[in-house]
Formats: sequence, C-alpha cells, structure tokens
Amino acid sequence: MTGATTETATETATETETDEQFRTRLRAFLTEHHPGRRPKDPAERLAWQKRWLATLYDGGYAGPGWPRAYGGMDLPFARQVVYQEEYARARVPGPLGTGLGIAAPTLIRYATPEQKDRFLRPMLRGDTVWAQGYSEPEAGSDLPALRTTARRENGGADDPRAEYVVNGQKVWNSSADIADVLFTLVRTGPPDSRQDGISYLLIDAHAPGVTVRPLRDLTGDAHFCEIFFDDVRVPAADRIGAENGGWPLVRTSLGHERAAGAMNQAALYRRVLDELIELAHERGATADPSVCDRLADFEIRVTVMRLTGMRTIADIIAKGEPGPASSTARLFIVTFEQELHEFALELLGPYGILGRRDPHAVQRGRWVWGFLRTRASTIGAGTAEIQRNTIAERILGLPRDPDPALPATGSTR
Ligand SMILES: Cc1cc2nc3c(=O)[nH]c(=O)nc-3n(C[C@H](O)[C@H](O)[C@H](O)COP(=O)(O)OP(=O)(O)OC[C@H]3O[C@@H](n4cnc5c(N)ncnc54)[C@H](O)[C@@H]3O)c2cc1C
Repeated sequence: MTGATTETATETATETETDEQFRTRLRAFLTEHHPGRRPKDPAERLAWQKRWLATLYDGGYAGPGWPRAYGGMDLPFARQVVYQEEYARARVPGPLGTGLGIAAPTLIRYATPEQKDRFLRPMLRGDTVWAQGYSEPEAGSDLPALRTTARRENGGADDPRAEYVVNGQKVWNSSADIADVLFTLVRTGPPDSRQDGISYLLIDAHAPGVTVRPLRDLTGDAHFCEIFFDDVRVPAADRIGAENGGWPLVRTSLGHERAAGAMNQAALYRRVLDELIELAHERGATADPSVCDRLADFEIRVTVMRLTGMRTIADIIAKGEPGPASSTARLFIVTFEQELHEFALELLGPYGILGRRDPHAVQRGRWVWGFLRTRASTIGAGTAEIQRNTIAERILGLPRDPDPALPATGSTR
C-alpha cells in the first residue's frame, strides 16, 4: 500500500469510527503483521526491526502523534492512549534509536520545510536510525559546558555552500552504533559562550572522520557508545535553527526526551506488573501480607503512571511542548522501575539473581537483567537530581540552582 492511499484510508476510518473500533482495527493490524520472534543475531535483529517499522509506516500505523504531512497519524488524545496500550500489549518491536521521541518533535517545531521533507519520513519509516549526541566527558548535567567545536568555512551562516568542520568527543550515546544520523550539539560560539554559543547539527554517522565505539554496560550488552569527530565536514544546510541558537531547541528536545514513551512505559509496566503478580501467585508468595502490600503499592503507582502519561500527552497536544511536568513523569517512572525490579529480586530470593544462561534461572533471568538495566534509569535523560531541580524550580517556583560556572556569590542562572 502506498503512503498516500493509506493516509486517505486511515483518515476516513478515523473520522467515522469510535475509539473502541479503532482499538479493534489496530489490534487486528498488529496481530496480522506481527513480526514474530526477535532474532538473536544483532544484524538480523536490526533488519527485523527495520522491516517492522516499514510495515507500520506503509500500513498507516506509524507516528500516532505526528502530523499527517510527515507520514504520521495525528491522532486525537484518546486514540493516542489507545494506540500506546495496544502497542505495548502486542509485544511488537519499539522505535529504533532515539530520533522518534526526541529529534522529531524538535524538527517538527524548528526545521525548515525543506529539512522536514528530507528527514522526517525516512526517520519514521525506520529507513534512517537517529542517535543523540549531546553528552560529553565533561558535560552531562551541565550541558552548556560542551566543547565539541564546529568551525564554519566557505560562506556565511546561511550560505548553502557553507560547511562546518566538527572536532570533539561525545559519550553515552544510545544506539549510536546503529545510527545513520547523529543529532548533535556543537560549539559554534567562543569557548566560554555556554548556552549562547551552541548550534544543533545533524551529522551523517557514516561521514569520514566519525568514529563510533560501543560501551559495555552492567547488563553485559552495549546500549550506548562514545563518538569521536575528527575534522568531520557537515553542510550548513544540516543545521537546525540559527547558528548559536541551539539552546531553545535543546530545551524542546530534553522535554520530549523525558516525555517520550511516558504513556508507552505506563502500558508496558501494566503488563510487567501483571506478570510479576502472576509469578508471585505461582510461587505461593501472595500468602504473605507484606508481599500483597508491596504489590498493592505498585498497582497504585502503575495507575498514577498511566494518568501522568495521559497528562503529558494532553500537554503536548495543547501546548506543543511537554513542559516541566515531563520531569515529574520521568522521575516517577524511573523510580518505579528500579523499585519494581528490586522487589522482584527480593521475591525470588537466590534464584532471582541467576543469569539467562543458568538452567535454574527464573524466566531466563529477565528480572535480574531488568534490575541491572534500570540502575542507569536515574541517570539517562537527566539524572534524578536534575529532574528534582527542574520540578523544584520550574513547577514549585523554589530558588534556582547556582550555575556551576559562576563564582559562588549566590548568583543564579
Ligand atoms: C542509559 C543512559 C543512556 C544515555 N543516553 C544518552 C544519549 O543517547 N545521548 C547523550 O548525549 N547522552 C546520553 N546519556 C548521558 C546522560 O544524559 C548523562 O549521563 C547525564 O546527563 C548525566 O551526566 P554525567 O554522566 O556527565 O554526570 P554528571 O553531570 O557529572 O553528574 C554526576 C552526579 O552529580 C549530580 N549533579 C550534577 N549536577 C547537579 C546539580 N546541579 N544538582 C544536583 N546534583 C547534580 C548528578 O545528579 C550525578 O549524580 C545517557 C546516559 C545513560 C545512563
């Protein structure tokens, strides 16, 4: 089916059907086209995920919140909630890379029409995978300290012949090893210009001078990488927004990073909690009232997570931005997922810590894997301390955190 035909078919159906009819139609599509078991081989797995994203896009079921002009579904609020619930229920592959949840909303808001045409549809269809290049060895929470430089040559900032020459290092870049495009923050202003000298550049991950090295994490897998740029030439036409005007885009990006998947995570953890409750029953643990108390607490929190996710989607639809409330959603989810896995290990006792290759492992070691993986949850997308700062300053109106670059005189950003 072509994109254009699908768009018309989906549009007509969406206008006339109820939310429950939409749910039935989506569930039927996800069941009929389910891509089957996840291949073990990494290259086969990538191809399998890409085929799935293309199937979704070609069928008119990609990008629930995206504008139709760029291949999305532009669903109203209630349908987006249904979409996320059904997607999590279907156990189909999620997005590849970090482009869809973070870069796309930034491009939709700030890119030129030509850039949107060039970049958005291939990203949504999974033809190009995107990875985020923000953090550096000396710039994480304090992102305005970043030092990767981009020197302009061959013309003015808006000259189509101009190019940037990029040098520096990024680190902890999720999925950069499979990426085609790196959405990156670079210093185009003087070294001490902080947020006033940052630009948002899209860098071809396969360009000469780009080196990507995977980094192994606690789980034994390599979910993120470090990236080195050595005299990498990037067309000025691939800069989003004005030169030195990248900071407002960063804020949009970070808000969406925290909001991305809030609803999807809620739906996912609804399922995971059900599975944990079932496991507790099977092992006779629910005879213990203290276990039931903990499960009831998780039950309440998964419901709150769903409501917070709904609020985040509603904010994006109403204001175009998730706003500081995305920090509340993020903090709530990451705390929940860490505590849920800690509890699962307590429940399972010594068997819980056996890895997937051990014949006595419970459910192929999924709970200990989840425990190890979620250790990083309170660091990625901004640490828990930074989320608390955002909530304190931007929601509760408390005094601002002092800027580490300023002398300790009580000055604030
Ligand atoms: C799983 C995972 C995925 C990631 N993916 C990406 C990615 O795709 N792309 C990317 O660019 N980056 C990514 N990151 C990097 C992530 O954004 C940074 O690790 C994070 O912003 C923290 O920066 P840092 O590691 O430099 O720690 P630091 O900023 O050095 O922080 C060290 C400690 O100091 C605390 N701290 C710092 N400043 C303050 C303050 N003002 N108030 C209170 N406490 C403070 C922090 O909370 C932390 O405990 C990822 C990280 C993880 C763990």
